[in-house]
Amino acid sequence: MIFIQKHTEDPDISVYKEKRWNGSSGKTTLAARDLEKAIAHYADPINFNNNKKLTRKKFKYEAYSHKDTKKALNEIFKSKCAYCESFIMHIEPGDIEHFRPKAEIHSKTGEVLIPGYYWLGADWNNLLLSCIKCNRSNNEAINIANGAVQNMGKANHFPLFDESKRIRSHTNNIKIEDAFVAIINPCVDEPNDHLVFEDNGQVRPIDSKGENSIEVYGLFRADLVLKRSMVARDLNSTLITLTIAVQLLESSSANGLPIEDNLFLLEIQKEALYSCFQEDAEYLGLKRQKLARFKAQNPFSYQKLIDLSIDLNRFL
Ligand SMILES: [Zn+2]
Repeated sequence: MIFIQKHTEDPDISVYKEKRWNGSSGKTTLAARDLEKAIAHYADPINFNNNKKLTRKKFKYEAYSHKDTKKALNEIFKSKCAYCESFIMHIEPGDIEHFRPKAEIHSKTGEVLIPGYYWLGADWNNLLLSCIKCNRSNNEAINIANGAVQNMGKANHFPLFDESKRIRSHTNNIKIEDAFVAIINPCVDEPNDHLVFEDNGQVRPIDSKGENSIEVYGLFRADLVLKRSMVARDLNSTLITLTIAVQLLESSSANGLPIEDNLFLLEIQKEALYSCFQEDAEYLGLKRQKLARFKAQNPFSYQKLIDLSIDLNRFL
């Protein structure tokens, strides 16, 4: 997981900017109409009261599922899951994820609160892109060898550190709750402050927010751990080969031998490394931490790469 710079102002798309949908008092934006209708539906005590759904009527949001909203999110998240950083668009449509769940809320203690954050169903700052495995409740393997599974996936989970601070109505200021959110929002928090990605693919928490996030997003599911370990291994190979290429170059230069082949090898490995860290590459959180460990453990090799104009610092 990495921090994603997502602008907080509404995107410049019709859903949020064009008043061409019918609201109660004339033409309005699709997002504004969703909000108006959601409040009318969910805040009516005839429909919902005392944590109970009393109506059989269903509510359908339209703004967040609009193709233009999804396109805008795809561009910001580079078609990767906000939580696990897996590239998703080539194998599944991808979920528009509500960080604060809209229909109901599962607290840290397992309490079910109904309705959820209904007024944030179309709120741009509540929307992320997620893969099915992080977003939906499902049994996932936690041990490939023995077949053990565990139910995980964020679904309606939204733990707070202090349940008494939870906001339950559109009439209250949601920002009051922000300081008590007990899971990482990659568009608000710096995941590096909460999670450590190990070379073996495991992820471990730095604090309780990290611990909750690993649990809620299922970042420890076995297939994902395996994939991260493969990525770490590939990056390790690239870094080692780069280091060897530098040594060969130095040796050839010192002995007055031709250096063309060494320079060629160095250039190829440099490009391989740069490719690993492209914006749309998977598992950048793991890769950045791995590179930082390489720098700490191999300061002389690292500096030699910098001296050869291989700009590693920009990836940290
Ligand atoms: Zn995911």
